[in-house]
Amino acid sequence: MKNVVILGAGYGGLTALKGLKKVIKEGKVKVTLVNKNSYHYDTVNLHELSAGNIKREDICIEIKDILAETVNFVQDEVIKIDTDKKIVYTKQQELDYDLLVVGLGFETQTFGIEGMLENALPITDVNAAEKIFYRLESNFKKYAESEEKDIKDISVVVGGTGLAGIEFLAELVETRKELCNKYGIDEKLVKIYGLDAAPVLLPMFDKAYSDYARKFLEDRGIEIILGAGIKGATSDRFVVEIDGERRELLASTLVWTAGVKGSRIMDATFPELSKNGRLVTTQQLTVPGLEDIYIVGDCAAFIEEGQERPYPTTAQIACQMGTYTAKHIVNRLEGNSTPNFKYINRGVVCSLGSKDAIASAMGLKYKGFLAAKTKKAIEAKAINECTNIKTAIRNQRIF
Ligand SMILES: Cc1cc2nc3c(=O)[nH]c(=O)nc-3n(C[C@H](O)[C@H](O)[C@H](O)COP(=O)(O)OP(=O)(O)OC[C@H]3O[C@@H](n4cnc5c(N)ncnc54)[C@H](O)[C@@H]3O)c2cc1C
Repeated sequence: MKNVVILGAGYGGLTALKGLKKVIKEGKVKVTLVNKNSYHYDTVNLHELSAGNIKREDICIEIKDILAETVNFVQDEVIKIDTDKKIVYTKQQELDYDLLVVGLGFETQTFGIEGMLENALPITDVNAAEKIFYRLESNFKKYAESEEKDIKDISVVVGGTGLAGIEFLAELVETRKELCNKYGIDEKLVKIYGLDAAPVLLPMFDKAYSDYARKFLEDRGIEIILGAGIKGATSDRFVVEIDGERRELLASTLVWTAGVKGSRIMDATFPELSKNGRLVTTQQLTVPGLEDIYIVGDCAAFIEEGQERPYPTTAQIACQMGTYTAKHIVNRLEGNSTPNFKYINRGVVCSLGSKDAIASAMGLKYKGFLAAKTKKAIEAKAINECTNIKTAIRNQRIF
């Protein structure tokens, strides 16, 4: 019986596991899932948790609740993979594998910007997200209780206005209202900035739609500054350069969403193949020269034949990679070949709070409440792909 080890219970890892359900039941493979937490979390909702608009339990799913009894679950942190000996080392255990699926997700990337790692909070996992809301709330509380009334305490600067940055900024509209009500602060005093070095906002959408997102934020008092090269961060400011001029944006809550890279385990395991935690896979999602190792999700850089650049890392592609990998493994067990991985891009939706969004999906472009509902449906679909329909409906609150 083949021994399959899956690393990471994110979108990539769990869809791979789900795709192996039948062969696990038939006793054709023994599967071990390794994850550092006892739960899966929906990364695509972390901006809502960071803003305090949902709770941890809304986006966390206990792994034991979705796992078949026949799957061995190891709750531990992967620290090393020895590809010669075919052993995964966790903090507590050594796990042999015949086939390995690596889906260890992403980490923050600060491009060496001085002080960024130490002073700005990233949106990377549930603990990091909760830390952001905790920082926000304690700063608002401090402002309300202090005599000096330092405006920095009710100011927020977000570095990065990509999808995650814009979605987080839009969530802050609701957060600002809640915190100002709670602590008796005039909402008009709160300053919120979104900065980006890029000259264009949300380039994956047509301009009319990215303009809509920008207007949504600006109408609600959130300032978007593009072409702002972030040069450094200290505990209470971002130092930026705009049109050659240095400017400082002061805030006690600094958030960084401008860069992610794949897991550090990737560069350590594949020093010659992996860069920034991502490895260019074969067309069948395996490691070049190591056909027993599959890479899925944010650790994979998949460049389709005939193209030059990898697809962006998303939950959407992570799910498709996990499903493909499971099929590949099943075919392999049965001695069959598998056609190359083909990514089907179903589009993108950027939420603007819970009731608005912009969408470019299934060949259609639209915005507003319908787009917001589309986002929830996509999130539910991703959870279903990882777990089951019951969990998807419960977690996405779509009804
Ligand atoms: C705020 C935000 C909004 C986003 N919105 C969207 C969106 O709308 N649509 C979209 O398609 N994508 C979106 N993304 C991107 C998407 O979330 C990622 O591309 C996706 O989560 C990648 O899936 P994955 O399976 O590779 O990794 P993850 O989902 O990150 O899962 C990795 C798993 O591995 C575990 N792990 C990590 N390291 C170790 C270790 N050393 N040992 C053991 N376990 C470990 C983690 O705990 C985690 O459970 C968003 C991302 C963010 C941050």
